[in-house]
Amino acid sequence: MRHVTDVMDWEQLADKALRGERLTLEEGLAVLGRDDKQLLPIMQAAYMVRSYYYGNKVKLNMIMNAKSGLCPEDCGYCSQSIVSSAAVPKYTLLDKESLLAGAREAMARQAGTYCIVASGRGPTPRELDQVIDAVTEIRSTMPLKICACLGLLRNDQAERLAAAGVHRYNHNLNTSQTNYASITTTHSYEQRVETVENVKASGMSPCSGVIIGMGESDTDIVEMAYALRELDADSIPVNFLIPIPGTPLESSTRITPMHALKVLALFRFICPTKEIRVSGGRESSLRHLQPLSLYAANSWFVGDYLTTGGQEVNADHQMIEDLGFEIEKYAI
Ligand code: SF4
Repeated sequence: MRHVTDVMDWEQLADKALRGERLTLEEGLAVLGRDDKQLLPIMQAAYMVRSYYYGNKVKLNMIMNAKSGLCPEDCGYCSQSIVSSAAVPKYTLLDKESLLAGAREAMARQAGTYCIVASGRGPTPRELDQVIDAVTEIRSTMPLKICACLGLLRNDQAERLAAAGVHRYNHNLNTSQTNYASITTTHSYEQRVETVENVKASGMSPCSGVIIGMGESDTDIVEMAYALRELDADSIPVNFLIPIPGTPLESSTRITPMHALKVLALFRFICPTKEIRVSGGRESSLRHLQPLSLYAANSWFVGDYLTTGGQEVNADHQMIEDLGFEIEKYAI
């Protein structure tokens, strides 16, 4: 039997993923650690899995930063946290008309999912009512799926959002359980897992992902992918840290485009059937290699992120078209 580090064996990993078998830690580390000359064979193998489940379809999502700054938590990567001095907009939850205007913009950008994201530890009763009111109207007038991201969520709150027609709820694990305390101290990894479990129990689709580039080891990255496979997250946003001046992680070293692509391939191998979304940091981490990311991932955000800019929507659409891939139409 050939060793996993041989060139041809990437396709064996793809076959293993397609059989539903989990990659071993050694195999996962091989994907992340091989020489950059192995990149194209690795991406080709990831594409075998991606295309089996998703063809050449690309899902687009759009973020609305519905409440910005003012967060009492201390997440080291976040420009909106209490320990950040970054100059970010600070405002309370947007009114209904603004949330509806965002939904119309998502439609214009061909984004099938509209993500309403609010800073904070979790939603207040008033914020939850406001989001539910806006979602009810969006759902009755537009063919959009709604994803909410409002922080830690109890069972009763999750049930109310599900009943209002929120399709998906995002709550990222962000990093590995081992690395978690070095990133955030005001809430725990276990609390994040509990929120994802509450989302699943409510019937909403669980979305949970990671941020790469926060001092984690390759073993941590494989563990993150294992954790999300275990949690059975339907949608996995993979962010690449943007070291924002004024945040505790401002001096972090940027990851290379090659490393970012290998991470995406790893997530495709370990979570083969899931929607894997290249998220924050796509443009600045992958730079000119952005289009290659779609050989592993099947989803992008279009437009700006929470407090950092994305590239022009037309440029995203053009990249997808140039690859011969196709934007997935709205599907309710
Ligand atoms: S990631 Fe969320 S919970 Fe953490 S500081 Fe930022 S807004 Fe607050």
